[in-house]
Amino acid sequence: MYPHPFRYHRAQSLEQAIKLLNELGDDAKVIAGGQSLIPLMKMRLARPAALVDINRIPGLTQIERRNGELRLGALARHADIEHFDMVESIPILHDCAAGIADVQVRNQGTIGGSLAEADPSGDWATCLLTLDTSVRCVGPEGERTVRLEEFIKDAYTTVLKHDELVREVIVKVPPKMSAGAHLAFKRSAPVYPTASVAVQLTLADKDVCKEARIVLGCVGLAAIRAKEAEAELRGKPLNGKTIGAAADAARTAAEPQNDMRGSADYKRVLIGALVKRAVGIAARRARGERVEAGHEYAGR
Ligand SMILES: Cc1cc2nc3c(=O)[nH]c(=O)nc-3n(C[C@H](O)[C@H](O)[C@H](O)COP(=O)(O)OP(=O)(O)OC[C@H]3O[C@@H](n4cnc5c(N)ncnc54)[C@H](O)[C@@H]3O)c2cc1C
Repeated sequence: MYPHPFRYHRAQSLEQAIKLLNELGDDAKVIAGGQSLIPLMKMRLARPAALVDINRIPGLTQIERRNGELRLGALARHADIEHFDMVESIPILHDCAAGIADVQVRNQGTIGGSLAEADPSGDWATCLLTLDTSVRCVGPEGERTVRLEEFIKDAYTTVLKHDELVREVIVKVPPKMSAGAHLAFKRSAPVYPTASVAVQLTLADKDVCKEARIVLGCVGLAAIRAKEAEAELRGKPLNGKTIGAAADAARTAAEPQNDMRGSADYKRVLIGALVKRAVGIAARRARGERVEAGHEYAGR
């Protein structure tokens, strides 16, 4: 279906984009990669009267590492992140970026758009909540930096005001002996996951977990931090018993719904299996092993 008619504005600077959004009011929307917004407009679930295109604004596509932080411009595409040479230091970001949808979507979709959309099935929030992540926002009143935990308020809802933009996503580089894994289980390549799990572990020594973060995706109105599952691993040896207890706690923390991707019961089972697998991969990576991981497909 064709979208409802809209006016198109191409902003040349952040200031101009903010001014346009402010003047055009609630009926105007930012467009970045268009990979969430355009499908919604074509289905007429979104009917903005105007679009403000931010793709020509300079300084929003960079990915750089400095002062112990990775700074990703709002317009960094999933594919740019996938191919950025960071796999050694933060492999969980590669797991996430490389598995989103298909190559066309990854070439267009942006990290800023994904977080601003706050789709409960989106991969970036699940992945980035295992790390210390902040979102740098800019609006008419200037800049503010918001921790990702506070940035996403609910399904499709963030703290962003109508005329405020995501400018940059800032991720603290994890310490030594720390690594993660992001596993998303999908029915086929271009669809959203049925369930996903992101785990970041910091080891005290080869077999003892010092710190753990476990986040569940697609099984609630927003990504769920499974704190009880984390507690099953924190300060304990990593073995079948502790990892099994973490998986059980994660299953309990999940709040899945029955839908076309599967039943709630099925998703809980998936969450348990994904937690076990992701903890194993994260631990091996934290010990310095190179392990391939990412999105997994039914039937493979
Ligand atoms: C077939 C298909 C499969 C997909 N599968 C997956 C998947 O498996 N996993 C996954 O994570 N995602 C998936 N996606 C979504 C994809 O990752 C999108 O790219 C992403 O969700 C949105 O980024 P975007 O740049 O395209 O944003 P847009 O569609 O341009 O915008 C999305 C929303 O964010 C707002 N916005 C965009 N940029 C900014 C900004 N800088 N500041 C403030 N507001 C902003 C827009 O106004 C809009 O409301 C899929 C998409 C498609 C079409």
